[in-house]
Amino acid sequence: MNDPFTTDTDLIEYILSIQNMGEGDGKSRETGSVSGQFLHFVDEMPGGFFIYHAYGGEELIYANKSMLRIFDCDTMAQFRELTGNSFRGIVHPEDLEAVEESIWRQIRDSQYDLDYVEYRIITRRGEIRWVDDYGHFIHSETAGDVFYVFAGDSTERKRLQREAESQAAEERRQYMDLLEGLSIGYESILYVDLEQDRVQAYRLNDRTRKQFAKELEVRRYSEFAPDYVSTWVHPEDREYVARSTASDDIRRQLAADRTFYVNFRVVKDGSTRYVQLRIVNVGESGSVSKIVMGYQNMDAEIVREIERQQLLKNALESANTAIVAKNAFLANMSHDVRTPMNAIMGFTDLARKHCQDGGKLKYYLDRIEAAGDQLLSLLNGVLEISKIESGNLHIENARCSLTETLQEVRTRAMSRAGAKNITLTLDLSGMEHDIVYSDGAKIGHILSRIVSNGVKYTKENGQVSVFVREERADCADCAMYHFIVQDNGIGIAEDMLARIFQPFEREKNTTQSGVHGTGLGLTIAKSIAEAMGGTVEVVSEVGKGSTFTVTLRLCLRDTQKGISSAKKKKPAPTEGKKRVLIVEDTEINLEIETELLRDAGYLVDVAADGSVAVEKVRNSQPGYYDLILMDIQMPIMDGYRATEEIRSLGDPVLSNIPIVALSANAFDEDKKKSRESGMNAHMEKPIDTPRLMNVISSMLEEGNTELETETCSTPDRSGGTLQS
Ligand code: ADP
Repeated sequence: MNDPFTTDTDLIEYILSIQNMGEGDGKSRETGSVSGQFLHFVDEMPGGFFIYHAYGGEELIYANKSMLRIFDCDTMAQFRELTGNSFRGIVHPEDLEAVEESIWRQIRDSQYDLDYVEYRIITRRGEIRWVDDYGHFIHSETAGDVFYVFAGDSTERKRLQREAESQAAEERRQYMDLLEGLSIGYESILYVDLEQDRVQAYRLNDRTRKQFAKELEVRRYSEFAPDYVSTWVHPEDREYVARSTASDDIRRQLAADRTFYVNFRVVKDGSTRYVQLRIVNVGESGSVSKIVMGYQNMDAEIVREIERQQLLKNALESANTAIVAKNAFLANMSHDVRTPMNAIMGFTDLARKHCQDGGKLKYYLDRIEAAGDQLLSLLNGVLEISKIESGNLHIENARCSLTETLQEVRTRAMSRAGAKNITLTLDLSGMEHDIVYSDGAKIGHILSRIVSNGVKYTKENGQVSVFVREERADCADCAMYHFIVQDNGIGIAEDMLARIFQPFEREKNTTQSGVHGTGLGLTIAKSIAEAMGGTVEVVSEVGKGSTFTVTLRLCLRDTQKGISSAKKKKPAPTEGKKRVLIVEDTEINLEIETELLRDAGYLVDVAADGSVAVEKVRNSQPGYYDLILMDIQMPIMDGYRATEEIRSLGDPVLSNIPIVALSANAFDEDKKKSRESGMNAHMEKPIDTPRLMNVISSMLEEGNTELETETCSTPDRSGGTLQS
């Protein structure tokens, strides 16, 4: 065969033919012929080369010297003996089956009938080495179907590879240990590729396990994130957690910082826990795609810190709300105080100018009085609200007659109703028990406010009806009372209904219509009702009227020893024989009180402070002073001290002079202190003249010095009373 080889089959044919020629005697290897030279070349090739039958016993046909060297064989005969003259003897028995299977699979799948396998061999010295095997399946005319193989000793490469692998495995183990150490405390760790929309779990806890069937499972992140939120996150935190764990938001946050965290609550088996999710950018810097998410149960200290921060936040919010409320309050007060003040000052100027004109003068004085009344009711309202808000509202539990209370409410509103020709009816037929043990004064106060509004906001010739419905309550000793005040007045617009119980809220049309008011009445009524455990409700329709219902649960039996209700005394005429000592440091008050008492026919003496009063009484003849009107806040000696000193005087007549406090200090504690210092009654300023006279005459003419401070109340001349 002198033609050049056109295919490797030709080449193998050639080798086989030469091989056959020299087989047995070795001549072909020794001759200097071309074929001999060629075979010599193949024999001496640095890489291993061998040919074997593809089928049957896979008998070896040829192997070069390199191949023999790989197996530590010096001769072909040794090699044949070692391998059983078969490819099967070349491969380590443990690898053989897999190697054969791999070769044939590759041949089947390969377009060029090529294969590559790697396997162990056992050398003649019993050493195990590794071999690379690049085989080609061909059909030769001489030998039939054969494999020719280029083989090389890959033991060293394999060793290096194994070393590199074990080094990588060691590094990976160290890396995992490091990760484990750093991630201690993270119950659950996820690796996310935002670009690929993949999330893979590295560590799962009892929650995330519900989202992944097993560790290392891969899910779509865009499905996992909302699934986690809806399954575990507390409903109130869901929106913000969903937002913070959405891909876009994570990208935005990690663009600024390498890591951020989200704190939220999870709910499991009905109990709530705080969790911190830390999200770290683990990809290349400058891009946000690969992230690690670690879920950690927050320890008690962090939870406390969060709660502390929440408290601070709430406190700040309430402080801000309080500032807004205070500013609104001051703005309202400023407006509501200025309006009547303006009237007082304006009409005083006019009165001075026209003091000769009796008719005009009277008109101006009436206007000044009305403005004064308005100021007073505002002041009383604000004081009352502040008292209620500060929790200083004391609710009595005394025997009282609802019939009397309601009749008094009606009587108080009658004159205003009469002036507008409004029919004011009281129907008590729905009431079974008249006597209850409660705070009658406060019930009257609540209802007075509402009835007064009914009259105020009902046009002339209208109708205001008060009726009571009594129902069984949940305890045998109590009953539910519904006090219903119905009018056919102007009604209240729907948008206003929700606000009428808030301070200073007045409907525009009532403000514009010129009906006087402070916007505090209903706030007070509702607050008191609530303090008594009750409610105030309203239904109303513009143009048709309003129905207010006050619901209270009242005791029918005396469950607690209460304080007896006020004793009301009829005023007695004064005869001008009695002497009153007015103790007052403010000149204008002194002037008014003196004028009032003189006008009522009393003799008057004055003292500028408590110490002067004590001296005057001490040095007086017993019986000279019949009564003392005592201011409380005074320089040098206040009214309480002065009273105590007078009560400790040696002369029983002097030490028992009736003393009536007349003070701008109007809270329950002030009245209590008056009583404790030894005063007989406590009246509030501004002075309600008829009441003051009533109290004085009751003490002087009827000798009744046992008046309780509860009888001393300042009327709200706009309609309600301010008993407390
Ligand atoms: P005011 O001093 O303005 O009467 P209130 O707190 O008593 O203050 O009432 C608040 C507002 O509720 C009133 O200004 C008025 O607009 C409305 N209002 C209260 N009662 C009635 C009623 N019976 N009919 C119509 N409007 C009413």
